[in-house]
Amino acid sequence: KQEAFIQERAELILSKDEPAITLDGKRVRLEANIELPHEVSQAVEMGADGIGLFRSEFLFMGRQILPTEEEQFEAYAHVLRAMPDKPVTIRTLDLGSDKTLDGEATVAVNPALGLRAVRYCLSRPDLFATQLRALLRASVYGKLRILIPMLSHMHELLAVREAIESAKKELDLAGRAYSDNIELGAMVEIPAIAIAIEPFLNALDFVSIGTNDLIQYTLAIDRVDNEVSDLYDPLHPAVLRLISQTIQAGERAGISVAICGEMAGDARFTKLLLGLGLNEFSMHPQQLLDVKKLVRTSHTNALRTKIATALNRAESIDLNSLGI
Ligand code: PEP
Ligand code: MG
Repeated sequence: KQEAFIQERAELILSKDEPAITLDGKRVRLEANIELPHEVSQAVEMGADGIGLFRSEFLFMGRQILPTEEEQFEAYAHVLRAMPDKPVTIRTLDLGSDKTLDGEATVAVNPALGLRAVRYCLSRPDLFATQLRALLRASVYGKLRILIPMLSHMHELLAVREAIESAKKELDLAGRAYSDNIELGAMVEIPAIAIAIEPFLNALDFVSIGTNDLIQYTLAIDRVDNEVSDLYDPLHPAVLRLISQTIQAGERAGISVAICGEMAGDARFTKLLLGLGLNEFSMHPQQLLDVKKLVRTSHTNALRTKIATALNRAESIDLNSLGI
């Protein structure tokens, strides 16, 4: 078994520079999720098409003192320099709930519904401004995409835009450079934004579906509670319909829709997601080549027909019975 495994990995690694193209000629983007800057080297090694999610909060966790603007700038610049020609998506802080600062343990009864992610950032303008200045300064090294976590309201998006504009003004005054071509996107991980996605697509450059939280909030299942983990079901028709609607709305608006939750890197779901129309996946670098192999042996049009009919069922989709 060990020999077979080693042989299989050796064959997979040969495909690292091959494009991820389906049998019917559809180019799929396969990007990497990282948590710390040095992990970008693994993404490059595996031939990732970019960074689809850099979870910046990991720079802030497990320490007593917040990272300075300079330290953050170095971290973001490191990733952009390692991938100068490919999109690098850095998510602004997603602190709160399951990811808290040392000494700032949450007291909320329902922390996953509380002051986390963009809500937290907007309530801590200085901390947010420091991160935004560091991101903007790092943008000169590559193709930065800023990703907002847990967006649910248009006024939050406007507030983030204002914060970015004032960070730019501060940099102008200090004579610091930044790119004038930075894309702004949001995570689709709260059902409300998936249901009412159109105005957000008009106001954003891209979106990325965070299935980990989208499943949690759609099914009201705490993602870290083992007692209900059997109900945490990525194949529930409500979850799949939200994903499908978001992808289709993105197609109509001409806005790119990625998935960066765990589903994107789980090879059991690759064909399902291709059948839902997904053409941008972001995952742990170690999963890239397995997913690429499946992409290269799939026929998306055939999958789309199969899956469209299965979406209307009451029960979770049975991938085996669909033959995928
Ligand atoms: C998600 O919610 O799917 C996601 C990618 O973000 P995180 O797992 O960091 O909440
Ligand atoms: Mg999330």
